Amino acid sequence: MDKIKKLNILFTSDTHGWLLPINYSDNSKSTNGLSVIANAMKEYSRENSILMDLGDTIQGSPLLYFHQINRKSYPNPAAQMMNYLNYDYFIPGNHDFNYGMDYLDEFITELNAKTLCANIATKDGLLFKQGFEIVDKNGVKILIIGITTKYIPNWENPNYIKGLIFNDPVVETEKIVNKYRKEVDLVVVAYHGGFERDILTRKEFVKDTGENQGCKIFANIKGVDILLTGHQHRIITEKIDNRILIQPGCNGANLGAVEIEYTDETGFKLVSIQPKLLKAGDYKSDPLCEELIKDVEKDNQVFLDEIIGIVPKNNLAIKDPIQARIDKHPIVDFINCIQIHASNSMLSATSLANIVTGFREEITVRNVLSTYVYSNTLAVVEISGKVLKEYLEKCAEYFVIKDGKIAANPRFSYPKVEHYNYDMIDGIDYVIDVTKKHGDRIESIKYKNKEIDKDDLFTIVLNNYRASGGGDFLMLKDLPIIREIPFNVAELILDYIRENRVLDVVGVNNIKLKT
Ligand SMILES: [Zn+2]
Repeated sequence: MDKIKKLNILFTSDTHGWLLPINYSDNSKSTNGLSVIANAMKEYSRENSILMDLGDTIQGSPLLYFHQINRKSYPNPAAQMMNYLNYDYFIPGNHDFNYGMDYLDEFITELNAKTLCANIATKDGLLFKQGFEIVDKNGVKILIIGITTKYIPNWENPNYIKGLIFNDPVVETEKIVNKYRKEVDLVVVAYHGGFERDILTRKEFVKDTGENQGCKIFANIKGVDILLTGHQHRIITEKIDNRILIQPGCNGANLGAVEIEYTDETGFKLVSIQPKLLKAGDYKSDPLCEELIKDVEKDNQVFLDEIIGIVPKNNLAIKDPIQARIDKHPIVDFINCIQIHASNSMLSATSLANIVTGFREEITVRNVLSTYVYSNTLAVVEISGKVLKEYLEKCAEYFVIKDGKIAANPRFSYPKVEHYNYDMIDGIDYVIDVTKKHGDRIESIKYKNKEIDKDDLFTIVLNNYRASGGGDFLMLKDLPIIREIPFNVAELILDYIRENRVLDVVGVNNIKLKT
């Protein structure tokens, strides 16, 4: 009988700078992080494995935030850990562009892994030079293609992606597969993107915008054996006709693995193939990984604990983020106030992240970074009364009535947790009738106590994600931009608190929910 051999495709995705198992909001221990995944990797022999990261790697944790503002003083801790773990490939994700191309370039330069991305280009060719690679792993020929969601221009600060062309991942993948399928034994597509439909029922989740095209890739390009995915932070392990679809969640919660058994006496023959997720909760953190980045982490902790202001009324902590949206928590007023202060706009919109702590009585940098977690900048746009109403109607979809009470629409929890897509707008008073159908819920919009007219014009300050239509707010996408404010919102908040020290915030009850 032929001897059965083993091969493993291992990957992480959307680690978002979670390198250590720490909840930075209160320094409590977490089970997740790349240093923990490091021990899960030890389940596999590295001679038989290929290891890759599918992006959203250098943004999303206070540690990486600290690093990007002190980038000259320390090596990139994500690159250090990934080099130690011997990553073979890196595929950039949308958030890896958030601190600008320079920061991403520096990371890639430090990284020993090869960067693959077949669909982001400049006029001179591929941005990261290489889109795919054919590797020979113990006699098995594997085609590995890296691709990234083409939706990046709908979110990113335009200055950071100037001159970049985002080609269609399905088209680019198909070209490469058609050309090389015959030469190889296995085709692996590593896609920083997710699924536009339910994989099994093929039912559409949300409007198919092109953000996620995993189903199309899998259905249209039969030559793909393994589709590694990310971006949606979902947990997926599927096998359909011996072809694999897999996604490992986020923040270093799981190691994704595709375990392959084969024989090769008379050419490559697949014996079995299995997708698997190894949960970080089942492993301990690797002390050698922790050791590598201990200097930057130590200084980060000092930075995070600095007390920069006080809240005498102690009314800015958030216990229940859903209720904080229903009641419009005073911290929303505070953020909108800062945005108006920085922009001189008539109106301001903001949302709360999925997980958000608010500020304690003594505000630390930690409180701010775990309250405004995104690396957004701001844009002031001109909006008509008509478009403002459409915008508010879309926001109003956030609510449902459950057991006679107002609750969050389950659509904001599945397939993707996206409570951050409910915006609250200051500068106007409005009424949402939750009993009415979507598109017909906004009963009144008043500016300075007067009902607005569809032709009235306002200036509104939005974060760059929303201003470019992110979260499917397509009505905002092409509004005239009056000016851009190229500062990180978290930094504006930090500066404001440092300058004013004492925060006396009074919540404004300008959003009425009717049941
Ligand atoms: Zn992503």
